[in-house]
Amino acid sequence: MKTDEIDKEIKCVESFPDEDYIKIIREVGFVCDFCGRCCTSEFNDHVFLLDDDAQRIIENVNRDFLRPAPYFDLCDNIGRFYVMGYALKTKPNGDCIFYTRGRCEHYEIRPMICKIYPYMLHREPDDEGNIEFRQIGGLDMHGSYHNEITDETCKEILKSVKDYESGFLRQKLEFIKETEKYFKENNLRTSKQIYDRMMREYRKGKAIEVYVFFRGKFEREAKRIINLE
Ligand code: SF4
Repeated sequence: MKTDEIDKEIKCVESFPDEDYIKIIREVGFVCDFCGRCCTSEFNDHVFLLDDDAQRIIENVNRDFLRPAPYFDLCDNIGRFYVMGYALKTKPNGDCIFYTRGRCEHYEIRPMICKIYPYMLHREPDDEGNIEFRQIGGLDMHGSYHNEITDETCKEILKSVKDYESGFLRQKLEFIKETEKYFKENNLRTSKQIYDRMMREYRKGKAIEVYVFFRGKFEREAKRIINLE
């Protein structure tokens, strides 16, 4: 995705009309009933971390709970992968690493995506086919729906969703810009062919190098974990 497209998306998120948003929040009326299903592999492929989430977990828990986010964004011509941020590790059964005995072990510092779930914004075409942020996701299969949500809570949800969505896009934008700069300076190019070959070898257990974009620079991780995806 090009940087100007991401800029446009950020503007779409920020200009998404508050009153429309609040109306949908009220209709969905989601309240967490601590069933924990969204913390399991049943609903959750991975928990992506914005930089602030990752930093909070490093400071309050341990860096060992982080892993490069699946799925790697690109690969250079010498077989090194690049990804725009960290995710939380998962347990062997695919559940979130913090999910223990039916509860989040670090609920107070849980990532932003867990706070806003299931109120994420989706990019969907309108009746004229224009792509814009226009819908809040909702799953009727966990938690409690159609509850009364106070004005104050609606505004808090609205702010958190916009913060998360624009934060995600900004992180992506910075990642793309920094990757372009880094590739240019180091005479590298992206290769889909090498990406596919390295992934095949990785799945067979071969160690790979992954560069994770975190707080404006790349951190190198050597990975020999075959259940990242
Ligand atoms: S961090 Fe906590 S709330 Fe978020 S998915 Fe993991 S266990 Fe659930």
